[in-house]
Amino acid sequence: MAILKVAQIGHPILRRVADPIPVEAIGTPAVQQLIQDMRDTLEEYDGAGLAAPQVHASVRVVITEVNDEPIVLINPVITPIGDDYCRTYEGCLSVKNMRAAVERPAEIRLQAYGEDGGVIDMELEDFNAVVTQHECDHLDGILYVDRMDPRTLAFLEEYRRWGPMDDFLYGEEGEE
Ligand code: ZN
Repeated sequence: MAILKVAQIGHPILRRVADPIPVEAIGTPAVQQLIQDMRDTLEEYDGAGLAAPQVHASVRVVITEVNDEPIVLINPVITPIGDDYCRTYEGCLSVKNMRAAVERPAEIRLQAYGEDGGVIDMELEDFNAVVTQHECDHLDGILYVDRMDPRTLAFLEEYRRWGPMDDFLYGEEGEE
């Protein structure tokens, strides 16, 4: 097992568009080792998900959390369903100790290959959809700070102390 170093915002690898993994390469030792190392790294840092570019591998592999279970996605494709958005305070292992509000489609269709090469095709909503979109964004060089409501950006310590900024900024009803 190996715990990998997590790239921090400012490292160019976080801004690259990652390369797809050929389906026939999924079972190779190199890809399986990367997946195992990503699992170990995610467990060590107690994140909700991890994308390969965050561990300096510019390939389209992520681990996301679905109902508290980590699942591996290879070459994932996300299609939003419907017009509902949800607003969530997100953080990222590559943007240490920060939180900010991000709005994302609340329901998505997720298509990908699994770590065994099997086809994954499922619909996700709410937190599961949010985490998966955050992780898949990493594969296109997008970080949550690109999508955040900038005035909600907070150090984790202050976020824990004061809570979400929405009431203060937008009133009790959360209206914008
Ligand atoms: Zn992230």
